[in-house]
Amino acid sequence: MSQHGEGLLRRRDRCPNCHSTLATSLYSAPYSAASIRNYIDTHYKGRASCHFEDVPYELARCSNCSLAYQVYVPTEILLADIYDAWMPRGSREELRGDLNLDDYRYLANEVQFLIQHFRLHPKQISVLDFGFGWAEWARMAMAYGCDVSGSELSRDRIEYAESIGLNVLAVDQLPANHFHFINTEQVFEHLVDPNHLIAHLATRIRVGGILKISVPDSSRSLRKLASNPDFSSLSRDEIMPIAPLEHINSFTHKSLVALAHTAGLKRLRPSLYKLYNGSSGWLEVSGAIKLIGRHLYRHIFPKSTFAYFVRTLRKEGESGVKTNA
Ligand SMILES: [Zn+2]
Repeated sequence: MSQHGEGLLRRRDRCPNCHSTLATSLYSAPYSAASIRNYIDTHYKGRASCHFEDVPYELARCSNCSLAYQVYVPTEILLADIYDAWMPRGSREELRGDLNLDDYRYLANEVQFLIQHFRLHPKQISVLDFGFGWAEWARMAMAYGCDVSGSELSRDRIEYAESIGLNVLAVDQLPANHFHFINTEQVFEHLVDPNHLIAHLATRIRVGGILKISVPDSSRSLRKLASNPDFSSLSRDEIMPIAPLEHINSFTHKSLVALAHTAGLKRLRPSLYKLYNGSSGWLEVSGAIKLIGRHLYRHIFPKSTFAYFVRTLRKEGESGVKTNA
């Protein structure tokens, strides 16, 4: 890979998934072009300093596996600038402020699904949260009793994870044929060499184990660019999956499956029964009785020794305890 823009970018000469050199250009404009410049200024709130105006933001699509990828990608030096200075990583408190009940339910549903899938006691299920961030997913899996490890690059996030008892492992420390489940959330779109990582992770899961990949879907953005190659016509949501310098691999379902195939992984499509039941257990007789029955019972027969108590406002001098005085 050749270097450009004073060593801040390098050129990917072939598809980062299948390594084919056959590709069509979907879009190309130098970073100095108004449309790209505007995006960079807005997205990074004026903190970005691009000293590579002549280098193009170029999106190509592999003719073999259909993966869309940015041809010029940041080197380590530029990555450090982007993630430390241009767009400082949010704190854990900021993330907690962003997550609501639905978000935690979503995480819980994923963990419940995987425990149900393997039909093992949670403590027998070994999971890895790869690129765990502030360890929200890992914490949920820990709460359900799974055997949880995690990998991450950011030093402060690693320190936090270790403080809550997460088993933190470097990429080269991951045991082979070990994990039942590996979670990757918003990881593969950022990698210069996604093929290398998936090949590695595929050998870290045991036979029958699952690798979960969740990445932005770029289908709509790519369709729109193909019909009208004008970056400025894209909405904020349409730019996100193909975001210059950050989302350097832009997946569709087809190219994601192709990535997994190169690592020998086959698509698993869980039944509706497993998906619904995994999130609550309510499709099984015993689960339904517990879920529906327990709430019904508590509502109809509130006079049990399970009760919620609420503190209410009291008038001065009022006591909740009756005395004989
Ligand atoms: Zn390819």
